[in-house]
Amino acid sequence: MNLTTKTDTPETYFSRELLAWYRASKRTLPWRRDRDAYRIWVSEIMLQQTRVDTVIPYYERFMARFPTLQALAEAPEADVLKHWEGLGYYSRARNLQAGAREVAERYGGRVPDDKAAVSALKGVGPYTAGAIMSIAFNRPEPAVDGNVMRVLSRYFNRDEDIAKPSTRIGMEKLAASLIPDGAAGDFNQALMELGALVCTPRTPGCLTCPVMALCAGRIAGRETELPVKAKAKPPKPQLRVAAVIEGVGEHAGKVLVRQRPDSGLLASLWELPHVLLDEPAAKPRGRAAKLAAAAQPTVERQAADAAELLRRLEEETGLRAVARRWLGSEEHTFSHLHWMMRIYAAELDLGADSAREAAARLRLPAARGGASGSRVHGGGTEAAPAQGGPAGAERAAEAAALYGAAAASSPALPEGYAWIGRERMRELAFPNLFAKILYDYWDAIGEEEEQA
Ligand code: SF4
Repeated sequence: MNLTTKTDTPETYFSRELLAWYRASKRTLPWRRDRDAYRIWVSEIMLQQTRVDTVIPYYERFMARFPTLQALAEAPEADVLKHWEGLGYYSRARNLQAGAREVAERYGGRVPDDKAAVSALKGVGPYTAGAIMSIAFNRPEPAVDGNVMRVLSRYFNRDEDIAKPSTRIGMEKLAASLIPDGAAGDFNQALMELGALVCTPRTPGCLTCPVMALCAGRIAGRETELPVKAKAKPPKPQLRVAAVIEGVGEHAGKVLVRQRPDSGLLASLWELPHVLLDEPAAKPRGRAAKLAAAAQPTVERQAADAAELLRRLEEETGLRAVARRWLGSEEHTFSHLHWMMRIYAAELDLGADSAREAAARLRLPAARGGASGSRVHGGGTEAAPAQGGPAGAERAAEAAALYGAAAASSPALPEGYAWIGRERMRELAFPNLFAKILYDYWDAIGEEEEQA
């Protein structure tokens, strides 16, 4: 335990001990190598809603590609999004680049040492402005986020609801009053560090805490019940159905993807075609509910999903497709939405006439959408049976050739749609949910081909 002095107040003790602790034991992090405002800005934006361990590799990769503010300002947006892929909350990346462009144009590429100017940059809120001003320029500005409010609520045993804007304003005043002279950058980072490493949300490590002697929350035995925070509304559940539409003929080995509109949720990112079902979806809770959500839908459910998905796809794009098999289920939670996604493999219905012709010639039953060639993988089930017959491989090859010839004359895709192979995943930015579905899909295809 760190000792108090006769003249200590809870405030002076807190500031002194916290600063000393930080200077003696701070972590080595890539954005702490210098006080470059651009590098700090990028790190603070990445760290919003994201843990340090997760951010580090993204940060290194991002800074290697965009080492200067100018490099970020001049880069194509798609490139920036690609280097943000996996971090989520993509509007952060777009706003960061917009802010960088503003600095390049207005301030000659140097982040200004001016709080009003920094606060006016796109995507820079009070916390980020405080972090940049204090860490890069050592200005005595508070940087108060949820972690800092947790520490201050506990140390000062304060009961205000930290979800309220008025509480944040009060905490900013309190934090500003605690900043030691000439040490704003280190002190703000010390507060963040204490919240991240010691005064953690569920199990605060009071016994190793540098300010435990005068911590009013700990003394009152309230360290785990503080801070007070009103429960946020849970994300709205949505049931969605997606198609991995497999290419044939000239597009064999590829799948159909589309780019989202350039504003709104996941703007400009790529995704699989999918639709929102009208029926309400209950957000699964607990492991059992999750397993149930991931279970294979009944055949009736699969048929209904596929019919709705393909009907809506045709309505929206003019593309006709047939479902082949259920591939699995995935989930993703955004701040306000919870997506539960059932995924089906499908093919475009391009070669129906040729397939029927082939079937007639070969006396094979004509299935909607064409001849054989549909692959089964990942434990999925066929939604439409593949063709076969006693003549085996020869007939299948002939039918496939005819179907392939028909597919080679694919109609033009609607704007924003594209056939891509696995290698293009390196260029296009996908939200985590779709990146996972696609990589799982290609991994399964690869395994099948190895086994064949
Ligand atoms: S003593 Fe415990 S509750 Fe108080 S600041 Fe330290 S870790 Fe948090």
